[in-house]
Amino acid sequence: MSVASRPKREARGAAPEGRAVRGPVRSGHDGEPVALPVEPADVDPRQQPASLDECRRCGLWKNATQGVGGQGRRAPIMLVGEQPGDKEDLAGLPFVGPAGELLDAALEEAGIPRDEVYITNAVKHFKWEPRGKRRMHKTPGQREVLACRYWLDDELQRIGPRVVVALGATALGAVMPGKKVPLTPNLGKALPAAGHTVVATYHPSYALRTPDRESRRLAFEAIVQALKLARRLERD
Ligand code: SF4
Repeated sequence: MSVASRPKREARGAAPEGRAVRGPVRSGHDGEPVALPVEPADVDPRQQPASLDECRRCGLWKNATQGVGGQGRRAPIMLVGEQPGDKEDLAGLPFVGPAGELLDAALEEAGIPRDEVYITNAVKHFKWEPRGKRRMHKTPGQREVLACRYWLDDELQRIGPRVVVALGATALGAVMPGKKVPLTPNLGKALPAAGHTVVATYHPSYALRTPDRESRRLAFEAIVQALKLARRLERD
């Protein structure tokens, strides 16, 4: 079954409101999460799954609690982040952790209600490594981003945004496939893509993590400006 011919997927990758489809929580004998080895049999890059729960296109499903689909209705603006974090993995919803709080603040500053945009990630399963009892974020590899483009393509087709805001370098690579588009020189720019415009900005977690207060303020302001640009473009 081709991607184009797949049935409409409100319930496939999208996180149904108020319902989290949970996979098995994997934990060690003392209750701390453990990374399970990914065997070749756990991965099939040619698979065309009908739901995130069934997806084995890369190995990230194995150590995640569940796949985290996009949230929102058909909207002219789509925000694309990198991948779910620890809190998102547990909640089954995108951008509900600290980065989500910062994104909410930026949306508010830009005058855009969160329920007027569609929010998703380039990669739908949480990639992490154990550090003590914590699950530390690990940047997804290009192969994983490519494998998960299957779901992003489906969302782009289903939501039909006029403007896609790429939050960070991973998201920018995912929404501009086949092109080398580095983040820094393209920050705050409107980039033409197939059927929509891409606006590139920082990932909210960068605005949380960057060491000094002034850099954090500037990163936050850059995100706000990108959101405002997206709003202007979708209304043009
Ligand atoms: S990260 Fe994406 S491609 Fe990989 S298993 Fe999860 S849903 Fe499938």
